[in-house]
Amino acid sequence: MRHPVVMGNWKLNGSKEMVSGLIKGLDAALNGVEGVDVAIAPPVMFLDLAQQLLSKADSKIILGAQNVDLHNSGAFTGDISPEMLKEFGASHIIIGHSERREYHHESDAFVAEKFAFLKENGLTPVLCIGESEAQNEAGETVAVCARQLDAVINTQGVEALNGAIIAYEPIWAIGTGKAATADDAQRIHAAIRAHIAAKSEDVAKNVVIQYGGSVKPENAAAYFAQPDIDGALVGGAALDAESFAAIAKAA
Ligand code: PEP
Repeated sequence: MRHPVVMGNWKLNGSKEMVSGLIKGLDAALNGVEGVDVAIAPPVMFLDLAQQLLSKADSKIILGAQNVDLHNSGAFTGDISPEMLKEFGASHIIIGHSERREYHHESDAFVAEKFAFLKENGLTPVLCIGESEAQNEAGETVAVCARQLDAVINTQGVEALNGAIIAYEPIWAIGTGKAATADDAQRIHAAIRAHIAAKSEDVAKNVVIQYGGSVKPENAAAYFAQPDIDGALVGGAALDAESFAAIAKAA
């Protein structure tokens, strides 16, 4: 049985005060919520504070991060390693987000290397895939997602997806308020799962596939009612404790 995962991607937002308030508010709002794993990915600067607050509250919220480097140490100015993320309690690491693919020119192959390095270090990759508006209009959505997934499958084997999370995020829906309809999202999720099933039915059955792109308390339940949508990766609405908790509760 797949277990839904709702993860908040805080992007480049926050201050010590904001992080404290948001974590305390979230932990309180999630009290008693069962049947869903809830994770947050604050900027790495705030992982220490987040870890302290979560541990003090004995919280079930899972800590994550938004990126990782391909090395554990060395002359790599500005980078953050899996070992460092682990030391601060981060286990679920977002890779291949469209903003990193676009602004940092991260290729499918580079993202796949990060995937492998996270697994090697015992961390959970949250692999973002998804098409641009132009690709969507050209009917290339499934082919783009398959290509991004194949960068992992063809180099590491389909079993590498075991225990990982896939986040299907149509780029045109991220931060735009223009969310995919639940039916359209389900159609793409089913196609992604079928693509994996062609290599291994077992892996396809068990892998968590989140939807991401303008998920809000008002539309979350419709996504989670779909058979192939296993939670959400949430940006904007994750910065408000009540909204994010409402999305998690809908899962
Ligand atoms: C995201 O950044 O991954 C995202 C889905 O953002 P938003 O929820 O704001 O569309």
